[in-house]
Amino acid sequence: MKPNEQTRRLMVGGVPLGGGAPCAVQSMLNTPADDAQTNLDQIERLADAGCEIIRMAIPQRSCLDTFQAVCEASPLPVVADVHFDAEIAIQAARRGAAKLRINPGNIGGPAKTDAVIDAAGEAGIPIRIGVNAGSLDDALKARTDLTLPQKLAASAEEYVGYFHARGFDDVVVSTKASDVPTTIAAYRLLAEKLPSTPLHIGVTEAGTLFQGLVKSASGLGVLLEQGIGDTMRISLTDDPVQEVRACWTLLAALGLRRRGPEIVSCPTCGRCKVDLIGLARAVDDCLQAVHKPLKVAVMGCVVNGPGEAADADIGVACGDGVGVIFKQGETLRKVDETAIVDALMEEIGKL
Ligand code: SF4
Repeated sequence: MKPNEQTRRLMVGGVPLGGGAPCAVQSMLNTPADDAQTNLDQIERLADAGCEIIRMAIPQRSCLDTFQAVCEASPLPVVADVHFDAEIAIQAARRGAAKLRINPGNIGGPAKTDAVIDAAGEAGIPIRIGVNAGSLDDALKARTDLTLPQKLAASAEEYVGYFHARGFDDVVVSTKASDVPTTIAAYRLLAEKLPSTPLHIGVTEAGTLFQGLVKSASGLGVLLEQGIGDTMRISLTDDPVQEVRACWTLLAALGLRRRGPEIVSCPTCGRCKVDLIGLARAVDDCLQAVHKPLKVAVMGCVVNGPGEAADADIGVACGDGVGVIFKQGETLRKVDETAIVDALMEEIGKL
């Protein structure tokens, strides 16, 4: 059995986590925490992109009314992200949070942690224990006999043990670092030491779009391929919609989940006689609104073009200023370069 088939099944609103459920895609709102409508607008865009769970920061108690309004109107389960003030977490549990995300290391000590656990228990919602390299407790940080991944895993184990001892088992754990080898090693240790605990995986503070995608795909790709990870977030310094697109693209690339089309496009070379990069980007943009699991080929010339295009559900193999449109192995027609995108989208619409 893979690690994520052995974890305990939890529910975040209507979304199952763990116990062999598909790795759930999540993201975090970055609109102002005191404005319900802008948060709901962003949730709508994220839900359209395939987001399944959304997290919202509650930086101060005055934002709790907004949080409650968002929970009441959101089509996605909303996770309350709380630091430093246990009372905010307690109130969020009572006001509609589908899950709490806390770091017990900064919530104010054991009594405050207990109060948060009790509030989550009463609300019937899980808690994610987030352990970050930047917020390990001083005693653990000072140990020289442990590597950083071992310290992160030890910290998570200690907290999970504490929650279990209090009779609260609905925990999810994350232990993120901003470098990939540490993240991979820490999650491997967690999967071994806490086999029944669902894991939220991610490379934290991964950076801007390009770097963040590469770091996240390399780290999370390794983990997911080994069956580690019950829910995932790809953190990007960008529009959260890109985080959701990236999650789905990674899951599809690994053959784990698919939502929407896959593009097969060539890298172009000196044989190419159309603006293939522009064409592929335009097709990619148009396909964002398509949710069917199709393979769409956009190929630059006759060398590999007809083969790939014919193998796809819909494809084009280009020549000198023209493209031959293929559909499920059948040649349909030749069109001018300027009409290729429309022709492809027209045929996709008929499938
Ligand atoms: Fe070059 Fe043609 Fe291959 Fe594209 S399909 S990379 S244009 S040889």
